[in-house]
Amino acid sequence: MSRFKDKVAIVTGAASGIGKEIAHAFAREGARVVIADLKQDAAEAAAAEIVGNGGTALGLGMDVGDEAAVNAGMDAAHAAYGRIDILVSNAGIQIVHPIESFPFAEWKKMLAVHLDGAFLTTKACLKYMYAAKSGSIVYIGSVHSKEASPLKAAYVTAKHGLLGLARVVAKEGAAHNVRANVVCPGFVRTPLVEKQIPEQAKELGISEEDVVKTVMLRETVDGQFTTVEDIAEAVLYFAGAKTNALTGQSLIVSHGWCME
Ligand code: NAD
Repeated sequence: MSRFKDKVAIVTGAASGIGKEIAHAFAREGARVVIADLKQDAAEAAAAEIVGNGGTALGLGMDVGDEAAVNAGMDAAHAAYGRIDILVSNAGIQIVHPIESFPFAEWKKMLAVHLDGAFLTTKACLKYMYAAKSGSIVYIGSVHSKEASPLKAAYVTAKHGLLGLARVVAKEGAAHNVRANVVCPGFVRTPLVEKQIPEQAKELGISEEDVVKTVMLRETVDGQFTTVEDIAEAVLYFAGAKTNALTGQSLIVSHGWCME
């Protein structure tokens, strides 16, 4: 399979969870992959796994909320492979509190990782994509780009914001043959979600099992978690779009939790 042969894809937050599977999926389809993650050793280990499977990958330490680090990382990726065709803006964290006790510093940290990160990585890669007159950006939003949940003020705000950013990139990028879309996952059992289960159980005063059944999966059509593979497939679909027919869009992959 080589849908992305000779292409270069940079995936942020790809040392773990959803991003890691997206990186593997691109590599399986022939792309050279840059894994950019806060933790350099974890990024390098994830890249080594891809290389071990016969793929081509580079691991970079990058805090997506740090402009200098993002620009240096994007330049290093371009220097290594000579092009940047795809950006998957995936790095993310979760912090839950009721609004009235949400520490301002944690609110700012959430917006820095999700929104500053998406903006800075977009800006840094557009330089190369516009010069090449080609590119595709996929943002990892969430069902929380469309719906709200208690305790998630910062996350819901940030994930809604990504829809706006993607639509502006779609409009500005069109003349340069650059597309932008958003994949909106439902709950996927990654470390980010594993951490939330006990936290939400404590905040809501219910058992962990009830958090899964009655909070996370209650609205799905079948009580199932979405998988990292489900999300990677949607990302590759957007990334492979050949024309501006598919730009400025969002796709919800959530076992029917959210329908529109
Ligand atoms: P995860 O915790 O498994 O992985 C997130 C990765 O991002 C980690 O490797 C972490 O080191 C990295 N990261 C965190 N802050 C960073 C920073 N400042 N700079 C660079 N890298 C950073 O989480 P995940 O569940 O795979 O989440 C990936 C994305 O998917 C996030 O944007 C998340 O909001 C989104 N998402 C997840 C779910 C879910 O249910 N897991 C649902 C909807 C959306």
